[in-house]
Amino acid sequence: MSEQTFVIVGASVAGAKAAEELRSAGFEGRVLLIGAESERPYERPPLTKDYLRGDAPREKTFVHEPGFYEQHQVELETDATVTALDVAQSRVTLADGRMFDYDRLLLATGAEPHRITIAGSELDGVHYLRTLADCDALRERLQAGGRVVVVGAGWIGSEFAASARQGGLEVTVIDPNSLPLEHIFGAEIGTFYRDVHRDHGVELVLGDGVEVFEGERAVSRVRTTTGSVIECDFAVVGIGVAPRLKLALDAGIKVKDGIVVDEKLQTSGPAVFAAGDVARAWHPFYDAPIRVEHWSNALNQGPAAAHAMLGEPVSYDHIPYFFSDQYDVGMEYSGHAPEWDEVVFRGDPADGEFMAFWLHDRRVVAGMNVNVWDVNEHVQTLIRSRQPIDLAALEDRDTSLDSLVSEPTTQR
Ligand SMILES: Cc1cc2nc3c(=O)[nH]c(=O)nc-3n(C[C@H](O)[C@H](O)[C@H](O)COP(=O)(O)OP(=O)(O)OC[C@H]3O[C@@H](n4cnc5c(N)ncnc54)[C@H](O)[C@@H]3O)c2cc1C
Repeated sequence: MSEQTFVIVGASVAGAKAAEELRSAGFEGRVLLIGAESERPYERPPLTKDYLRGDAPREKTFVHEPGFYEQHQVELETDATVTALDVAQSRVTLADGRMFDYDRLLLATGAEPHRITIAGSELDGVHYLRTLADCDALRERLQAGGRVVVVGAGWIGSEFAASARQGGLEVTVIDPNSLPLEHIFGAEIGTFYRDVHRDHGVELVLGDGVEVFEGERAVSRVRTTTGSVIECDFAVVGIGVAPRLKLALDAGIKVKDGIVVDEKLQTSGPAVFAAGDVARAWHPFYDAPIRVEHWSNALNQGPAAAHAMLGEPVSYDHIPYFFSDQYDVGMEYSGHAPEWDEVVFRGDPADGEFMAFWLHDRRVVAGMNVNVWDVNEHVQTLIRSRQPIDLAALEDRDTSLDSLVSEPTTQR
């Protein structure tokens, strides 16, 4: 084992945590962690939150302390892009011509923002937010103040809008849906977030799209599909991300909205694994493939992939989980709910502290807690139980969530 080389492509959360886990598990061979970005691995959630606002230091964004990689003999290659993967030769090639042979390979190449292709999108001042460099540019914008148009009321758009308002900017959010985050949560929670943003002074232009960015050299106006004109000093586009598939695709590895992996996180390519935003993994609990674009999935799936690379039995079955902070509204969401019949509330959203549950056939498929804490494990227990739930008890704040499940299941 000790002569083996394990290569990880993508030096972000999934890749860095996989490298850490290989060492924790006692792997003594060579570990190469190759990343296209200049920074050592960092976390992206602060980039729409405290780091963006200037409330947290840059150091707080990094996955590991400086020196971690040297101390653990992880060869971290930054500014290094893998341009080709040859699965027959078990070899990766970098943009600078270097080649590395591997015994096991982990693809943790993540996702990249969809680019907007309308007229004017090449103007200065049209920003995206995925990397620390993107965030640094936007921090300067926030410091300068003024007016910003946010294109897209999904996670990035909503969190950026909140931070920009907190920084005192005038913020307009444009989205073709009728409510923020509606495609994920439906109308009830979409309405809640719409009101939160309105109450904080965000102008919401919903049911409308951006037709064109206008300006001389830099964007200074946005024209919408219904003909509204919104003046701005800059714009931020958050219209979703796409998994980075090119390496896998060119290598003949099976992809379908992500790199297809089994529950052991193994791809169709020999000795090649995938984890994080890029992986569409077979999920044993859902008996279906799912791809999760959230931090905790990258955090947990990277280490799981490390164990699979070591030949250990792995069955990755974490219930998807994510969190979001907007203004003073902190929330956690667990579950996977492509469809549901009803949404049940425990507490009143108008009070700003509540839980919401998405049910299918009276079974909880997802749950959210807003400014209510230490309940996430109980939500996951409800989901894992798959039991029909007494709705009155679910709504009742005085009934413990665990008591709704006759035989609580534990997470494997
Ligand atoms: C601004 C922002 C805020 C977020 N906030 C939250 C939040 O509040 N809660 C939450 O749950 N999730 C949040 N997320 C999502 C979370 O950050 C992602 O799910 C997570 O970053 C995924 O990690 P990853 O390691 O799979 O991939 P990524 O973070 O996408 O990293 C992939 C890395 O691989 C590198 N790479 C790609 N191709 C190559 C190549 N060929 N060669 C070398 N390197 C390559 C890329 O440069 C990149 O550094 C947020 C994301 C963003 C952008």
